[in-house]
Amino acid sequence: MAWLARRWALRRWAAVSAAVVVLAAACDGDEPRVVPAPTATPSSAPSPFPSTPKSSPTFSPSPTVRARFRVDAALGTVRFLAGELGPREATSDAYARAAAEVQRQLVDLGYAVERQRLRVPAGVSWGVPVAAGQTWNVVARPSGFDASQPYRLVGAHLDTVPQAPGAEDNASGVAVMLELARLTTARSRLPVVFVAFAAEEPRGDGEALHHFGSRAYVERMPPEQRRNLAGMISLDRVSVGSVVPVCTGSPGPAPLRSMLLRTARRAGIPAEACTNTSSDHWSFELEQLPAVRIGGTPYPAYHSVADRPRVVNADQLRRVGRLLSSWLLR
Ligand SMILES: [Zn+2]
Repeated sequence: MAWLARRWALRRWAAVSAAVVVLAAACDGDEPRVVPAPTATPSSAPSPFPSTPKSSPTFSPSPTVRARFRVDAALGTVRFLAGELGPREATSDAYARAAAEVQRQLVDLGYAVERQRLRVPAGVSWGVPVAAGQTWNVVARPSGFDASQPYRLVGAHLDTVPQAPGAEDNASGVAVMLELARLTTARSRLPVVFVAFAAEEPRGDGEALHHFGSRAYVERMPPEQRRNLAGMISLDRVSVGSVVPVCTGSPGPAPLRSMLLRTARRAGIPAEACTNTSSDHWSFELEQLPAVRIGGTPYPAYHSVADRPRVVNADQLRRVGRLLSSWLLR
């Protein structure tokens, strides 16, 4: 009954202005630039995550219960992914377990969930050889999703480099994404599609050897889904620092980034504009789709065995959760 004890322990534990800045190294280590700030099948296994209220498309619990971002639940997700599963290279068994759990949670929340399979090549990921293999994105659409109408997409990469447990990179992003998926089942300004992206981490040098999951997703988007995408967010490394980075790949005007910075300002959340091409938002921007990366503050444990749950700062998780829930819900 070890799982019961672990589940109980996790549940008990779970009960508990725009600026000009320099952003440092991102996922594949390229150098950021300075820019001016603009004025599935559900598993039958018990869940190792902290308790998440279940819902169905026809169940609408009180908004007062659902409307608040729960940092304790997000921390529980980080602890499960980075503390229990550990490194989650895209073709590994640990990745498969992580994807199955994320899929189960999204199904339980009432989303229509599909696995989008892709193959990744052999290569070298952050100094470690990796084999070719199969992996998949987990894609969750709200019940009755209609791509002929405007919608938004929130994604977070679920994989890690082979040597890192990936608490900040990127259990933090997945944790925020799952909380947002729960919050938006009650209401949102626009329908929201959630995607846990596979194989964001590099398998070699150059544009063609990273962001595999998001590039496959964008390649397979039907024209109607491209036309009606009102904004894509990549949550990638969102739980260190005290200011929320809001980045686009191109240094020019970016209405989506400006909108998020305005939302942050109104909510009293410190945020900064930045330029960065090192996450899944770049796959969308390359196809002229509006996209932003949230996150990317440098930290010493980056891509190392030290990227454990203790690097995660609950206050920063809460800032990101508040920013995104304000943007999605109001
Ligand atoms: Zn990352």
